[in-house]
Amino acid sequence: MKAYIKTFGCQMNENDSERIMYLLENEGYERTYDIAASDLIVINTCTVREKAKNKLYGHIGNLKILKSKNRDILICIGGCTAQDLKEKLIEDFPFVDIVFGTHNIAELPELINRRVSTGKSICSIENNGFDPDLFKVKREYDFKAFVPITIGCDNYCSYCIVPFVRGNEKSVEVKKIIRNIEGLVSKGVIEVTLIGQNVNSYGKDLNEACTFSGLLEKVSDIKGLKRIRFMTSHPKDFSRSVIDIIKNRDNLVGHIHLPLQAGSNKILKEMNRNYTREDYLNIIENIREEIPDCSITTDIIVGFPGEERDDFLETLDMVRKVRFNRAFTFIYSPREGTRASKIKDYILSEEKKKWFKELLENQNRISYEENKKFAGKKFEVLVEGRSKKGANLLEGRMENNTIVNFKGEEKLIGSFARVKINRVKSFYLMGKIYI
Ligand code: SF4
Repeated sequence: MKAYIKTFGCQMNENDSERIMYLLENEGYERTYDIAASDLIVINTCTVREKAKNKLYGHIGNLKILKSKNRDILICIGGCTAQDLKEKLIEDFPFVDIVFGTHNIAELPELINRRVSTGKSICSIENNGFDPDLFKVKREYDFKAFVPITIGCDNYCSYCIVPFVRGNEKSVEVKKIIRNIEGLVSKGVIEVTLIGQNVNSYGKDLNEACTFSGLLEKVSDIKGLKRIRFMTSHPKDFSRSVIDIIKNRDNLVGHIHLPLQAGSNKILKEMNRNYTREDYLNIIENIREEIPDCSITTDIIVGFPGEERDDFLETLDMVRKVRFNRAFTFIYSPREGTRASKIKDYILSEEKKKWFKELLENQNRISYEENKKFAGKKFEVLVEGRSKKGANLLEGRMENNTIVNFKGEEKLIGSFARVKINRVKSFYLMGKIYI
C-alpha cells in the first residue's frame, strides 16, 4: 500500500505531514512521490493566503480524475483549510473520503478504517482535547529535523486565521523537547529547527517556568548538535536574552526570521501586532550591534485595508533601513472570520500591485547587494540534497540560512562541505567545494 502526501504552507504543516506519514507507516503504508501509483492521498492544506486556498481547490479538483480511474483510492484532506471549511469540503468535492482537522491527526488510522468499513465520507474536525504525540514522526531527512515547541497562537493578528484553526498557544514541556532532541542526535541528526507560531512566547503557560532563551540554552548544551534554528519570532516578544545567547553559543545559527508585516505604526496597530516601527528598529539595532553577521529575513504584507501610499512608503523605508537578507512578500487578501476582513478597503488592487512591484524591486536589489558581500569568501555548508539549478549540482545551506549550489557527489548529502562562493544571485549563491 502506497501513500502520497502533498504539503502546503508552513513548517508546522511540514511537521504534521511527518506525523501523518509515521501513523500511515504503522498501518502498513509506504511513502510514494508518484501520485498515480498511490492507494491513499493526503493533502495537508494551508489557509493563510487566499492564493494557497485557490491553489488547493485546483489541486483537489484534479484528484477527481484519479478517483474516477480507481474508486479504491482514498483521498484525505487535512490541515488548516480542512479545519476551516469542515463538511463544506465534502459538499464541494463529494469524491473526498476523509476531512480531518489540525487536532485530529492521531485519529487518521481509525478514520481510514471507518471509511473503508462504512463506505461513507467522514469529517472529523472537533478538538477533543486529545494531546497528540508531536514527536512521533517519519522524518524527511536523516540529518535535520523540525522540533515543535509550541502549538497554536494567542496573538490574533487581525488578518490571520491561525489562532482560530490551531487554537490557543500551548508549550511543550522542556524535558520532552530535550529528550526528543537527544534521541534525534543519537540517530545522527545534526541540525534542528525549533518551530512554533511565536517561539518567543514559549513557556508562558508551563507550570515549570522556562523562557525561550532558557530553552535555547538547554538545547544548545546537547552534545553533538551542530546547528539550532528557530522560527517564527514575533517582535513583541523578542527579548534581548535571545540575542545574547545566539552571540555566545556556536551551535545557535546567525539567522533570525522576524516578520515586520508593515512599516507604518497606523497599520501595525490595525494589524494588532503590538509593536511599533521604533520597537522593531530597536531590536534590529541590538542584533546588528551584538551579532554583526546575523542574517535577518522577514514577512511583509502589502495593501492591508486602510493602508495608503504614505503607509506603504514607511514600509519601503523600513526595508531600506533594515536591509533584510530576504523578505517573503504578499499582497493582502482577506481571510473570512478575521477582524481585518471586515475593514473597508478603498485602495484599488491595481495600485496595490504597483506598490508590491516597487517593494519587490527594492528588496531584490538589497538581497543581491547583501549576497554580493559573500562573493569570494569561504563558508561551511550543510549539504541538504540535489539542487534544482542544474545536473550534478548539490544544494546546501550556510549557517545564516543562505542557499548555496555547487558541484559535488551525492554522498556528501547530510554532511558539512566547505564551499567558496563564486557567483551571486538575489535568492541563492553558486560556489565551489574547496579542501
Ligand atoms: S503571530 Fe499573528 S500572524 Fe503569526 S500565527 Fe499568530 S496570529 Fe497569525
